Amino acid sequence: MGAQQVREGFAALYGAAPEGVWSAPGRVNLIGEHTDYNDGFVMPFALPHTAVAALSRRTDGVLRLHSADVEGGVVELRLDDLAPETDRNWTAYPAGVVWALREAGHAVTGADVHLASTVPSGAGLSSSAALEVVIALALNDLFELGLQRWQLARLCQRAENVYVGAPTGIMDQTASACCEEGHALFLDTRDLSQRQIPFDLAAEGMRLLVVDTQVKHAHSEGEYGKRRAGCERGAALLGVDALRDVPYAELDDALARLGDDEEAVRLVRHVVTEDERVEKVVALLESGDTRAIGPVLVAGHASLRDDFRISCPELDLAVDTALAAGALGARMTGGGFGGSAIVLAEAADVETITKAVEEAFATAQFTAPRVFEAVPAAGARRLS
Ligand code: ADP
Ligand code: MG
Repeated sequence: MGAQQVREGFAALYGAAPEGVWSAPGRVNLIGEHTDYNDGFVMPFALPHTAVAALSRRTDGVLRLHSADVEGGVVELRLDDLAPETDRNWTAYPAGVVWALREAGHAVTGADVHLASTVPSGAGLSSSAALEVVIALALNDLFELGLQRWQLARLCQRAENVYVGAPTGIMDQTASACCEEGHALFLDTRDLSQRQIPFDLAAEGMRLLVVDTQVKHAHSEGEYGKRRAGCERGAALLGVDALRDVPYAELDDALARLGDDEEAVRLVRHVVTEDERVEKVVALLESGDTRAIGPVLVAGHASLRDDFRISCPELDLAVDTALAAGALGARMTGGGFGGSAIVLAEAADVETITKAVEEAFATAQFTAPRVFEAVPAAGARRLS
């Protein structure tokens, strides 16, 4: 969706041109799954798919929201009425950002908003973070709040955790706010320190495919929260603040201490080995040994499937079929129970792999997947 189209949409709705137009991308996570709420490491990169929002300030305490992608007209809310977990609609995401900014003492006095997004919703590509971050960046600019990108990401996370009521980590919002074109973002979710890692697969004759299984998940409830609570329980049993504090070298000792608590053993093993895999991928990319990350991605998938138990038949089929068709590596990405898988492949094998995955889905009578190439794109920015 182009800036011009969203600008025109805004003018048609609200009868005047917007003060500006901003964009924020969705993301895929290369490696580091379910580590972000354990204070661990993640490595996302931004997609070319973005949420684009046109905004103007208001001074009367009113927030008007409209999405081109949702049926229904403009939703009008009063800022003084905003309260956590009172809104079960899409409007909770942008309203939550306004609420979080005001809670933190920032003078946001109202806004008119019109937005449209090309980030597939519920596909594990973080359409929710794109939505939050685009609003946060726009309000930061318009109201001259002077917040840094990582601070905006924190406030967006608070909006999603507290206002929407979805217990997600900090990865998605930081990726959308901080990623850079041609790079993956190595992020330490404990202190939000970050390093941009050059990730230009095309230059090395490779491609990264996203296979959107079209299976929808619902993060806000259920299994995600259970895994998160399970990790916290594991950390408590081991006497650490977060599972990130269990060194990989001491994993066997830690697991022995958990004894026959099978669930804790599985969850702890996934998180600790996944943090190790992120560090391994960073080292391989920085030493130029890009093809060698393939097996690390595959090991990550096995861990999510067998230990963390958040894969599903569609994701497993996508991964197994891609590997059988010659992929260098593949794994599910995102929160799990549907959403997307990523596939690392030689450029020459992309067509064969895509066809193989599509045929396997047809044979299994699954909904046809959407397969597209992911090129590391820019983070959130002002468009006009
Ligand atoms: P994901 O972030 O993986 O796409 P989530 O469940 O976290 O999935 O967020 C999806 C929700 O975000 C949607 O149900 C909707 O409420 C909101 N959303 C995403 N894109 C849009 C959009 N273009 N317009 C309005 N709401 C959207
Ligand atoms: Mg989300």
